[in-house]
Amino acid sequence: MSPHRPPATGPVVSAGPRVPVELTLTGPPGLDRPAGRRAGSRRPPRHLADLPLAERRAAVTELGEPPFRASQLSRHYFGRYTDRAEDMTDLPQTSRDALAEALLPRLLTAERELACDDGTTRKTLWRTFDGALVESVLMRYPDRVTMCVSSQAGCGMACPFCATGQAGLTRNLSTAEIVDQVVAGARVLATGRVPGGPGRISNVVFMGMGEPLANYASVLAAIRRLTDPVPEGMGISQRSITVSTVGLVPAITRLAAEGLSVRLAVSLHAPDDELRDTLVPVNRRWRVAEVLAAARDYTAATGRRFSVEYALIKDINDQAWRADLLGSLLADDLAHVNLIPLNPTPGSKWTASRPADQREFVRRLEAHGVPVTVRDTRGREIDGACGQLAASAAP
Ligand code: SAH
Repeated sequence: MSPHRPPATGPVVSAGPRVPVELTLTGPPGLDRPAGRRAGSRRPPRHLADLPLAERRAAVTELGEPPFRASQLSRHYFGRYTDRAEDMTDLPQTSRDALAEALLPRLLTAERELACDDGTTRKTLWRTFDGALVESVLMRYPDRVTMCVSSQAGCGMACPFCATGQAGLTRNLSTAEIVDQVVAGARVLATGRVPGGPGRISNVVFMGMGEPLANYASVLAAIRRLTDPVPEGMGISQRSITVSTVGLVPAITRLAAEGLSVRLAVSLHAPDDELRDTLVPVNRRWRVAEVLAAARDYTAATGRRFSVEYALIKDINDQAWRADLLGSLLADDLAHVNLIPLNPTPGSKWTASRPADQREFVRRLEAHGVPVTVRDTRGREIDGACGQLAASAAP
């Protein structure tokens, strides 16, 4: 089966681990929507997830409703993952219709849904109100469920090995557009449609499309919504949230001062400026040493060890001497290296490292006393693995 075949019917529990399956969408596809104006020319409609609870109270009061309706509405959205007025039977009929319309507009419409790993990895392609496309990925493991979310439609960082980077930036997502990806995942999981039975989202990683720290205000508010307890937010632990960045140093410094305990991941990909200038172009602005210094300050401020993301690219950044250089840079740090075998993007001249080179890279980092893991390649068959999110709607 290829991911391009017509939609399958029924639940996807029989597919083998390496077989991608297109899932039937329960909601209407967004294809029939009017094209509207160019994506990015208007702001997404206001949604309760954009606002702290106090502002939601003010908004419902403006609609002529008592302030406690804000909590009721918020419990439905953040606690029961519904935005449908008909589910809100504890609210009077007329109020619920008006409140849902004003504060729970539909932000994301599922355009395609693909699954692999026996249905425990699911990628959703979303269409926004203005026609932009973004993707999120749900990954269920034996001990946790991780949502990988997008923070921007496209990305302006132009890393040459990353699919998202190739098309450039369309626009920043709003806070609610980010949060809604997680709520949608929570909804699917709660219904038991993901093999393994009903469950909850335990982790969120900002490793989908976009550079989260280039959309700072919306991402920070999204972190608050995701981690504040119900009804203020969704109640996910701050420690289970990871913000991954190319290394926007001033924004890392700012994040360190927010008093949060979210995990920071820096996408290094090379220990030397010469190579990093080509792999992560923003390195011309903030060098390896500055990025690592900011990450150390982040660890000092939050007590959280930082992680270093390193996509292993055959004969480009996987040499033994680069492993030694990286190991010596990190030897005294509370840091962890995540090696990601490169997921080649279409047309890429690069590929993943040879197994022997990867093993040697790991061995040398460990010899420097640096903890290292090799990331699994979940979702590769559905173009849902790291760096493959390109949001192509083509069937
Ligand atoms: N802009 C953020 C989030 C991007 S995606 C950042 O750069 O950190 C999360 C990780 O996937 C980043 O470390 C990114 O460099 C990595 N990645 C991108 N393309 C990849 C690819 N083709 N193969 C493996 N990892 C990739």
